[in-house]
Amino acid sequence: MKLNLLAQKMIGKGRNSRPSGVKQQSMQYFIFFLCLIFQLFACKQVEVQKTVGPLVKRHVHLLGDTPITVTTSTYGRLSDVVFIRLHDNEETAEKAALQILEERGGTVISIENKGNRIIGFLVREKNYVFDPNRMFTKKAIRESMQRLGSYHPAAAKEVREFSAAILKLIPKNAVTIALHNNADEGYSILSYNTDPILRQSAKAVHRNKTLDTDNFFITTNATLFHMLKKKNYNVVLQNNATAIDDGSLSVYMGKINSAYVNVEAQHGHLQEQASMLKGLLQQIDTLN
Ligand SMILES: [Zn+2]
Repeated sequence: MKLNLLAQKMIGKGRNSRPSGVKQQSMQYFIFFLCLIFQLFACKQVEVQKTVGPLVKRHVHLLGDTPITVTTSTYGRLSDVVFIRLHDNEETAEKAALQILEERGGTVISIENKGNRIIGFLVREKNYVFDPNRMFTKKAIRESMQRLGSYHPAAAKEVREFSAAILKLIPKNAVTIALHNNADEGYSILSYNTDPILRQSAKAVHRNKTLDTDNFFITTNATLFHMLKKKNYNVVLQNNATAIDDGSLSVYMGKINSAYVNVEAQHGHLQEQASMLKGLLQQIDTLN
């Protein structure tokens, strides 16, 4: 508006100096054009401010003939923690991570799989499926593919390459925080006492009986276990030596002795999961 007024004033001034009709008209066009440029420029600046957010990179990986996108979103400059979402159906975990990342900074790696847990892909026109948290060893890829559908070495090779591409995105020396959601029944911290396979995978279990058994941490790192236990969270210390190879990221990270924490919460327990993440990051920050 101010620019239009300015243009009118300038045109008015032109009239007083009595230019010819043609000259006056071209002056009007010129000033109108100038105003347009100024206004466009002003609008563009606002847009830039509005779009300030994470630095998002999309990595498209070809699994056989099927492209799968993996997104890394980096908030701020901190790279000491990296969140990872392997299961695209676990939305609560995604929302909880976003709340924390916007406040504190860090990176989140997400597999984009149209909101599905299981990934399907085509090799030579045949469909294969696998669980992205059962893909970090050769043996587990075979078992996962056989359990969910069919197995073929060429298809398994595609899955191995995909898992290697995911691991490459995790910065060295960062604490990896895996985000998962579970259902109200079935898998919980109690499973580490009742399920013989999980019992063998746990070195220690700390339970706070006032908390929901579906909301708990699993870690490969004894220091983090003791810190979380002291804060009275539900927490499992993985036995990295005896954990059964199920191809999960936690077992893989345990084998390579990398600091890893899995944050499990029931679907819909957004505030609980966000508060667990906050509590965890406070502990990690004291280590730095
Ligand atoms: Zn999950």
